[in-house]
Amino acid sequence: MIKWSYSGLKEYVNCPRQYYEVKVAQNFIKKPTQQMLYGSAVHKALEDYVGESKPLEKNYERYQPMLDALLEIEGERFPEYRMALNTDLQPCTFGAKDYWVRGIVDLLIVDNDTAHIVDYKTGSAKYADVKQLRLMSLMTYAHFPEVQQIKAGLLFVAHNTFIDETYTREESENLWKDFLPDLERLKLSLETNKWPENPTPLCGWCPVTTCQFQKVR
Ligand code: SF4
Repeated sequence: MIKWSYSGLKEYVNCPRQYYEVKVAQNFIKKPTQQMLYGSAVHKALEDYVGESKPLEKNYERYQPMLDALLEIEGERFPEYRMALNTDLQPCTFGAKDYWVRGIVDLLIVDNDTAHIVDYKTGSAKYADVKQLRLMSLMTYAHFPEVQQIKAGLLFVAHNTFIDETYTREESENLWKDFLPDLERLKLSLETNKWPENPTPLCGWCPVTTCQFQKVR
């Protein structure tokens, strides 16, 4: 059975061979880049501020007005909220053996029939990818049956930019369609054990040294 997350599926789409070597066979380890380490540190600081009112360090203080605006939203707050679904699209625990898909919402706020989902981003808004908001929304509907509408957004903290979308529960079937073609491809790769390479300029940063397209930077 496939087990997936939004980031994992994206990695598969970017390069099936790298996905296989790193995630399935675990022949290589993808080392975190400086950008990823910075992103993790910022996420932790924002999570601590929103979830535990821990003051922001000096270098992150400029993000405070954006976070304070989020804290004004009515409802119960769930920072770093973990959700998972089984193959029947029913909610299960994040660590359940039979989970099918799972993900973590940076900030979820539930106010009766309305929920707010926020994902913090440290990169450029030029690369905004709202599909992950759609997946988080689908999981929120399963975990919170009372929620009928979701306002979701990517908060690009370094650029003070918020890219948002609104969904209703009735749209769920359509939202799932965003993921089905890629999941079908992943299923086929697993069944046939075929993992084609997808060379891009990023090959120079790829850990798969046995791939013909890998170049040392
Ligand atoms: S070097 Fe490029 S094509 Fe080869 S596995 Fe890595 S990302 Fe894929």
